[in-house]
Amino acid sequence: MMNNETLNITHSHEFKLLGDFFRCLERQGPFYLPLARQALTYCAELPARAQIADLGCGTGGQTRQLARALPHAVITAVDLMPAFTERFEQEIAGTELERRITVLNRSMDALSLAPKSLDLIWSEGAIAHIGFEEGLRYWGRFLKPGGYVVVTEATWFRENPPAEVVRFWNENYPDITTAAEKTAAMQRAGYLPIARMPMPEAGWMDYYRTVEARYEGFLREQNFQEKAQSLVDRLRHEAHLYDRFKAYYGYTYFIGRKV
Ligand code: SAH
Repeated sequence: MMNNETLNITHSHEFKLLGDFFRCLERQGPFYLPLARQALTYCAELPARAQIADLGCGTGGQTRQLARALPHAVITAVDLMPAFTERFEQEIAGTELERRITVLNRSMDALSLAPKSLDLIWSEGAIAHIGFEEGLRYWGRFLKPGGYVVVTEATWFRENPPAEVVRFWNENYPDITTAAEKTAAMQRAGYLPIARMPMPEAGWMDYYRTVEARYEGFLREQNFQEKAQSLVDRLRHEAHLYDRFKAYYGYTYFIGRKV
């Protein structure tokens, strides 16, 4: 069951606006393909017909990459945002991918998958919404013993970040820690940590470029109404903050194995 908080979010105007803004993008968060490929090489014992879930898949940009890299894998792609899952479903309808990818519109903390059924759980830029350690612990029950998890998560890269950036993260996502602390959390959640790799700046800059390119069209679609304008202002602020303080934080790819 979705908890009340999740239900409230999905009925909010803000949620709908986020869907309208981001549904046109290929990706809904920073990512770096060379590292995603490398992360996959750490999942060395994946069976050919691997059962995979991409949780918080957005419009499926990374799900497609997984399908391409693992041509016999079967993938369940899950996202809470109907605008994203609808787009992804429409795009794969009638293609070869339709046979291998099932798109589900639901919360990743209320999965309808069979226990111990997955060889790999992939999740980029999404686990923060349900909490890193809690999320990993919950997802673990769907992995086969020895199954893999690959997640990206916000981490501090340096000590003593400036007060302004700490305030931003505290307001938006107080769970940000160092990569070492996340690795310990992964271990507590029942995984053997295999590797972690900080995402280079290029992943963020490319992402923010696509976000910026969307501002104008989005504002026009929304008739420049106040809430749309404030969403754009918030995204601008976030990008600007990254540009100024990128030495202090970013995403890290974490790879673990269910014990
Ligand atoms: N993995 C994608 C999208 C990252 S953005 C990519 O890398 O491009 C984070 C995604 O998590 C969004 O698509 C958002 O709709 C989704 N999300 C947030 N909370 C969620 C929840 N409780 N269950 C499932 N998806 C959720």
